[in-house]
Formats: sequence, structure tokens, C-alpha cells
Amino acid sequence: MLEFELVPAARRPAEERAALLADPGFGRVFTDHMVTIRYAESKGWYDARLVPFGPLSLSPATAALHYGQEIFEGLKAYAMPDGGVALFRPEANARRLNATAARMAMPELPEDLFLRAVWTLVEADREWVPSKPGQSLYLRPFMLATDPFLGVRPSSEYLFAVIASPAGSYFAGGAKPVTVWVSEDLTRAAPGGTGAAKTAANYAASLLAQAQAQEAGCDQVVFLDAVERRWIEESGSMNVFFVYDDAIVTPPLNGSILPGVTRDSVLRLAEHLGHTVAERPYSFEEWRRDAESGKLRETFASGTGVVITSIGAARTRDGSFTIGDGTEGPVTTAIRDAIVGIQRGLRPDPFGWSV
Ligand code: PMP
Repeated sequence: MLEFELVPAARRPAEERAALLADPGFGRVFTDHMVTIRYAESKGWYDARLVPFGPLSLSPATAALHYGQEIFEGLKAYAMPDGGVALFRPEANARRLNATAARMAMPELPEDLFLRAVWTLVEADREWVPSKPGQSLYLRPFMLATDPFLGVRPSSEYLFAVIASPAGSYFAGGAKPVTVWVSEDLTRAAPGGTGAAKTAANYAASLLAQAQAQEAGCDQVVFLDAVERRWIEESGSMNVFFVYDDAIVTPPLNGSILPGVTRDSVLRLAEHLGHTVAERPYSFEEWRRDAESGKLRETFASGTGVVITSIGAARTRDGSFTIGDGTEGPVTTAIRDAIVGIQRGLRPDPFGWSV
């Protein structure tokens, strides 16, 4: 078994840490350590270390910098009422990283090595797990192609690393309903492409649409399918759900949307709570029509960052519509409470998701 070499960092003083944890925002404060593991085709995974958080030294010819062979994951550690720390479904992230790796012609990382890497970092930086309501320690595992070679081909060497960032609420607005921009011209992913993989280029491809959303006064972008520009896919970093009296509908995993861990958790919890769930194609037209008639009760989005966020309104170049009265509905709230309760150890965990 590959053992981790521990190279402890000089820890920042408690007062500095407390000041940073008071209002960490999202993704801008990092803990004292990181984990790195190297891979070479000739020897597999080797050189696993816990080291001080700091710059990586890379050749300017590093393959990932030129051709985007880079993948990542995102999961959270939560402070538990008993003083411990729990991860939410980390093995689901380990599996998804490998599904992504396969699509991007990268080596698999054994699931137990992924889990040990994440736990090694969480244990070393235990005091960076914030404990106020809504806070968590966001973990970012990632893997990049490190061959110093400009030929276009899968790399033969890789670096896997995990960094950690204390997080408050993901959107500056907190839990209030968001307005989404439905992008009718820019798409995120095409059939046969990489939409189902958590790879850097998908996010690069979504940035202009996200900027347009912001210009239009919206919080998030929602993408349509690339072929017909008709079917709802997902938002830039979240899956979407449509709540009716008789069912909760979400687009199916068609290969161009990301299989969210939160999405899967919502589907299973919703059934557990007595809802009927339907994974089926759902068109923008159906969304607008049913929102306008009042048949659609609620719309929400799911993702690790913000967990569940209510979508109060949608906008396109041609106009906008409101869902319900634009405020968060009871099903959205109940599903958020159920997931957050499990994540934070405040509710029974019938699925054994909290580890
Ligand atoms: N879609 C996209 C494009 C995402 O980046 C994410 C965040 N990983 C999600 C959906 C939600 O996935 P998860 O619930 O695993 O965070």
C-alpha cells in the first residue's frame, strides 16, 4: 500500500485562522497543507505526500496547460455535533473522478487512494473545518497531465493533488432564490463530447455564458442542449429540478450533463420522502408554459457548493417568467433540510451517506 510521507507545514496562528474562518466566502482561503501524488506510466502511482500548501513547479511545456487534460472533483467536510468531521458520499466523488479520467484518457486513481488522500488532508487541517451554520471545508481533488511535451497525445505522467478551502455560502446572496439566464446561443456540451466529465474545459466553455448571465442581471446560466436548443440540460455548476404536484422532474443523464452527487442524493431522498421522481427530457417551452400557467410549483438547483438553491425566475433575450411567486417553495426547503440535516449529522442518515 502506498504510504503518505508527511511534511508538516508551519501552521498559521490561531487568531489569523479565526479571522479567516469568520467570513471565508468561497474558494479564496486555503488551509495549511495539500496532498500530492505522482503517476508515471512506467510505475503507476507513487510519491504520495502531505506537504505545505504552496505553488507547484511546472515546465511551461506542461501538457495540461496547452491541451486542457485536467480533471477535478468537489466535495465537502462538515463539523459534526459530536466534535468529529464527516464527509458526504466521498466514494461517489472517487468513482466520478475515475469516470472522468476514463473519458479524458487519464489513469484511474484507486478509490481507496483517493479516500486516503482526502482524509489525510482533512486530518492534518482539522482545525480549518469551520463550524458555523452553512459553513464547511470544501475539498478540491484534481489531476493534471504533466508531460513537458507539446505533442497532442495523452500524457504519460500525471499529478494528483487535493487542496482545501473553508467555505461559507456559495452565492453572495445566501439562500435567497436566484434568477437564471437561459442561454439560447452558447452551449456547454454536445453529444459525444465531455459534458458528463468534470474536466476543466467544460468550465472554460461556460464562462462567456456566465458573463452574459451577469450582464443580464442574472445569477446563473442554464444551458440548453446543443442539437435542438430545446431541452434543459443544467446550470454552470448545478443540476436542475422542476417540482409539480404529482412529480419532481429532472433531465436524464444523457451524456452531456454532469452526474451530480447532490442530484443523485435529491432523487433518492425525494423518493424516500414520498415524491414521485421522473428523469426525462424537459424542454424550455414546457418550463415557461407551466410556470406561466401556475402548474409548475417550484424550480431548484443542486450542487455541492450551495447544496440546494431555489430558482425564482428565468430570463432570455425575449423576456422573463417567474416560478410561483418567486420565493422558495416548501418542497425545495424540505429537500434542502433533509440533505443538509444528513450532511451535518443533525438528522438520521438512512442511506449511510455521511462518513
Ligand atoms: N453540474 C455541473 C456542471 C457541475 O460542475 C456540478 C458541480 N460538481 C454539478 C452539476 C453538481 O454536482 P455535485 O452535486 O456533485 O456537486
